[in-house]
Amino acid sequence: MNRMTSTQARHTRRAVLQAAVDAGARCASVNPDSFFRADREPADEWRARRTEALRVCTGCPVRAACEELALRDREGRADADDMVRAGLTGPELAAVHTVQAVRLAATVAADRDTEQRELRNLVTAVQDEVASSLDRKHEGERLSPTRVQAEQNVLVSILTARIREIRTARRARTGWEVAA
Ligand code: SF4
Repeated sequence: MNRMTSTQARHTRRAVLQAAVDAGARCASVNPDSFFRADREPADEWRARRTEALRVCTGCPVRAACEELALRDREGRADADDMVRAGLTGPELAAVHTVQAVRLAATVAADRDTEQRELRNLVTAVQDEVASSLDRKHEGERLSPTRVQAEQNVLVSILTARIREIRTARRARTGWEVAA
């Protein structure tokens, strides 16, 4: 049996964390807005809602995964008490991020390595598909070039859609002015 290497395990960690939160979040049935302070919301009203949001997080079975995702996404600011996630306020999340900055930088870099590799593989797959011959056989029978072309078009459109998705995510992270 093939065993996953430690590097592969690190690369898949983000997806695993997200799947855990999606499956077990205690706040899934709560209005997501209740975890964020509204514009110009009076401090005492926000404090009451914040306490309730923290209560929802208490005992949440996926709190650790939620906290790691929040830290990876750089949620929370030291100077803004305006949100709750993973049982922590924004300033508390920012403080934890500062303490764990080195470890988090390594995990985020690992995620991006994976993304970069996937992008390269997808571009190569599109190039190979576009350059491939329409003269193909299946179980000894020559396939119609029209059918092969149609299947090729579908495959290329799926691959290019995934390429667009990755590039859009990269641009969103780095700013539209930076080429992905
Ligand atoms: S820890 Fe809190 S914010 Fe995170 S998934 Fe659970 S209930 Fe939601």
